[in-house]
Amino acid sequence: MKKIAVIGPIHKDGIRFLENNKFHVFEIIDLSKDNLIKELKEVDGIIVRTSKLTKDILQECSKLKIIARHGVGYDNIDSNYLDQRKIALALTGDSNSVSVAEHVLTMFLYLSKNIYQADKLVKEGNFQLRESFSNFFELYNKNVFILGFGRIGQAVAKRCLGFESKVFFYDPYINNNSFNLDNCKKIDFEEGISLADFITIHMPLTSETTNMIDKNQFLKMKKNCILVNTARGGIINENDLQWALQNNEILGAGLDVFLEEPPIKNHPLFKMKNILLTPHNAALTIECRKRMSIECAENIYYYFKNKPKLNKKNIVNKKAINL
Ligand code: NAD
Repeated sequence: MKKIAVIGPIHKDGIRFLENNKFHVFEIIDLSKDNLIKELKEVDGIIVRTSKLTKDILQECSKLKIIARHGVGYDNIDSNYLDQRKIALALTGDSNSVSVAEHVLTMFLYLSKNIYQADKLVKEGNFQLRESFSNFFELYNKNVFILGFGRIGQAVAKRCLGFESKVFFYDPYINNNSFNLDNCKKIDFEEGISLADFITIHMPLTSETTNMIDKNQFLKMKKNCILVNTARGGIINENDLQWALQNNEILGAGLDVFLEEPPIKNHPLFKMKNILLTPHNAALTIECRKRMSIECAENIYYYFKNKPKLNKKNIVNKKAINL
């Protein structure tokens, strides 16, 4: 019986699916490095959320054949080491695109409609000040600039087109055949930064994207620009963002991800008025948790029991594992 560790918690449906298919599944609650090394020694597969799986942990797992990420980013896993050992790395493909895209739209609308101030105004008995908002505008006909036009970037584009926004994107790694959305225009990074009313980030964190949005970029943005990051902390330079908000270089920002997670207590960005922060939960809707749990369990199931049916699109290192 294959032994699968779940570094969770995850929705029970995925666990039930594996148990019904004769896998031995156990959940790891203590996420300390020492405990992970101890518990992972004999496993054939791992399901992991955001815990770090470094080489010194992985090299203790002599039987490991597959890691199924509960999500799509994998910067928490030493993927080079997995390639060397021919251990498969699987993601949950499209499971979270809709939830993250809805989160982005929520942030766009919340910030452009100044919802926080409006709510506060009513609750503090200042209803009569309802005409006092100067920065209160529509998504309709505005320029939305999407950085990274993969699964989530395209899901955001689709929704913005529903609002009749003008959608532009920057992604040097895709060509026009990689997506089927008309009315989305591929443009240069610099051009997009300066024309955008809304910017949203959907690229992985790499050496190329680290600090891609810094003071130089904030200086080029429109003063009414709203910037949202649900991808990874580190793509936006947090000190420079604080500077931009303090100096009204942009109108507002929404962050679901941080350089350090959880962010330090009393993080300077917490004091900013024109910022909306969420705890890396864009993909944690009820529906999405269930989809991700089932999809990562299926990745494990098909890998071991029915490889021809494995969804190859979900496997990051097909070449390394000769798939
Ligand atoms: P994806 O792989 O489908 O798309 C990423 C896109 O980024 C690709 O099209 C790629 O070509 C592009 N890209 C790579 N480097 C780039 C660069 N330097 N400049 C511009 N584009 C570049 O991934 P996805 O599923 O759309 O996920 C996107 C991001 O969202 C990932 O970073 C992932 O970690 C993050 N994410 C966050 C949450 C959350 O809960 N907040 C949930 C899911 C995914």
